[in-house]
Amino acid sequence: MIAKVEPLTPARALRGPFDYLLGDELAGVGVGSMLVVPFGRRRLLGVVVDLAGSSDVPAERLVEPLSALEADVPETLVRLGLWVAAEYVSTPARGLALVLPPGTGTGAGQPLRPRRSLRAALTDAEQPASGLGDRQRAVLEALAAGPMSASAVARLAGADHSTLRSLERRGLVNLEQATEAPRRPRIEGVGARRGGVEPTAAQRAALERIVERIDAPVGTPLLLHGVTGSGKTEVYLRSVAAALERGRSAIVLVPEIALTPQTAGRFVERFGDAVAIMHSQLSARERYDEWWRMRRGEARVCVGPRSAVFAPFDDLALIVVDEEHDSSYKQEGDPRYDARVVAERRAELEGALLLAGSATPRPESQVRYERLELRERVDGRGLPPVEVVGMAGVAGPLHERTRQELDGVRRRGEKAIVLLNRRGWSNFLSCRLCGRVWECPDCDVTLVLHQAAGELACHHCGHRGRVPSECPDCGSVSVARHGAGTEQLERELEQVVAPLPVFRLDSDIAASSGVAGVLRAFEAADAGVLVGTQMVAKGHDFPDVTLGVVLDADATLRFPDFRAEERTFALVAQLAGRSGRGERGGRVIVQALEPQARALCHAASHDASGFLADELPRREAFAYPPYGHLIRVVCSSTESGPEHEAATAVRELIEAAGVPVLGPAPLFRRQARHRAQLVVRSRERAPAIVAVRAAVEAVAADRRRGAAAFAVDVDPQ
Ligand code: ADP
Ligand code: ZN
Ligand code: ZN
Repeated sequence: MIAKVEPLTPARALRGPFDYLLGDELAGVGVGSMLVVPFGRRRLLGVVVDLAGSSDVPAERLVEPLSALEADVPETLVRLGLWVAAEYVSTPARGLALVLPPGTGTGAGQPLRPRRSLRAALTDAEQPASGLGDRQRAVLEALAAGPMSASAVARLAGADHSTLRSLERRGLVNLEQATEAPRRPRIEGVGARRGGVEPTAAQRAALERIVERIDAPVGTPLLLHGVTGSGKTEVYLRSVAAALERGRSAIVLVPEIALTPQTAGRFVERFGDAVAIMHSQLSARERYDEWWRMRRGEARVCVGPRSAVFAPFDDLALIVVDEEHDSSYKQEGDPRYDARVVAERRAELEGALLLAGSATPRPESQVRYERLELRERVDGRGLPPVEVVGMAGVAGPLHERTRQELDGVRRRGEKAIVLLNRRGWSNFLSCRLCGRVWECPDCDVTLVLHQAAGELACHHCGHRGRVPSECPDCGSVSVARHGAGTEQLERELEQVVAPLPVFRLDSDIAASSGVAGVLRAFEAADAGVLVGTQMVAKGHDFPDVTLGVVLDADATLRFPDFRAEERTFALVAQLAGRSGRGERGGRVIVQALEPQARALCHAASHDASGFLADELPRREAFAYPPYGHLIRVVCSSTESGPEHEAATAVRELIEAAGVPVLGPAPLFRRQARHRAQLVVRSRERAPAIVAVRAAVEAVAADRRRGAAAFAVDVDPQ
């Protein structure tokens, strides 16, 4: 037997698969097995991507693998990893690294040593001639070749652990237990918890359709469009329960878990140890242990951010994508995959149902998925009234109306959430005498003042510098501070609502004291204000919040991006959704420079469908998603020049392939690299991806372009 092996190497040039001869002792090896193989004078870790009866490599040059690792991945995941590599213009090794046990990545240090989990071996006892089932016989036959891991033999023989256990009871098989218990990461819940609820009629109707589709998985994915507070999570919980009742597994994708501990907490509460939680704060060991619990079938629900779409189940029934509008589903580094697209593909490959949900769904899913609606909040409470106020001519960060409402919250001892999507104290500093503006030495952007930390920081590369006491150009000591960020707003709010406490939540706080702590403190307080960046608008469920405020709501509209309207609408609608979830009701104030903006008006009337009806024709006319596909190519170099030349060369090749392309356009210098960008916008997806890949590979291989680096982003966000 020949194993076709893809080596796990970061080198772009080294691409398999390569043929290896499987000897008798590796007879159990199949697609998804991980092998250590000799490669020239090196030894490499590789994944079996295919098996074949013969090879084109001459017999005398065929070599055998050195050993097989205990871990392996389901065959469908191998296919999925290779598909991601092709779809997002990456390498097979990087695509496969996504589906392997955590720690087996490409290049980055030694892979984690496989833990000896449960090993099965034949005992010396004589095998009975009768009284054994087919599966039991198959297990004994497989083990005749020698001891192997319990999960491997189970899969090989089409049996499960109970088969092994019954053979053990009969003294025919010896099972050796792992000495170390798997580590279980703890997830601390925050927020309202109401156990054992009776589903509403709308929830029940949605569930019926979902269960129907779990049992007959044909057709498009489902979109659960439910207003904020309509009880979408309860629908997910019961859908997952339906999958488990059928003896199958489920994946629940959520935005960053640290930001939404409530949701993950509810799944743990409902399903206990059957849940594996994958989040960024886990140690490598914990990730590895959770991976194994899933691979062995001990955990059958995976809750996690985008990478959880690769959970190692082989009996998947359901993938839930919670808050499907969240941009964190897109991976920023290579492979730049979109977990929502990968989820769609995986569901299709495995006959599972994809269920995406949001109060502000993307045009992509509105157009292509079958819609289920939850039009009302549970308990029939209305959505809060939203008032949009214009900031033209207003001095200071807060409008008079906002002050009045905050004062009401203070007097009544209630809670408010205030959103300003800009962290730090001041946006930028300038010299009052000569006009000098403090910029990052490595990026063409202004530095942001962080008062508490006493530094100027670049939000693009992490550069930090000291706060200037005088201008280095003219010696003036008069330095002006412009624009307010969350840090300054926190101080301002403290004055407005004193003595109520003010809690700040942004990535500066997240890095120091952690998100969950802030959320818990806000929850535990009798009254107070939570202020922060878009983190405060995530799916939090605090029933006692009576006021939501968005500052500078149209800031996102001032970015030249075709998703600007969508982003603005979603951000305002999501923040509005945090208010008025309890008996006291609530309201929302939105401050904007242009209060008439379309996205704001629709958000103010909670009209997601109206917003889409406006937005879709524009997308259609310009072939923007969901009617077309975008691919971005960024060429960069440390010197100015090569990035532009490389981009021009790539552009010519893409054009020659008959695919429309725009650019090169210069991007601002970032991390000391000059950048030029091309954008492909095409109604056809596959030919565009093929053309871009070929063009970038050809130009990258050209030695004259050695100074340039390339990054390809399919479906940029
Ligand atoms: P969404 O995710 O749609 O914003 P949630 O799932 O957070 O809404 O639900 C809002 C609140 O309503 C939660 O506290 C939840 O426990 C509660 N809830 C959900 N379904 C019901 C129901 N059928 N009856 C009563 N309360 C419910
Ligand atoms: Zn100056
Ligand atoms: Zn910088």
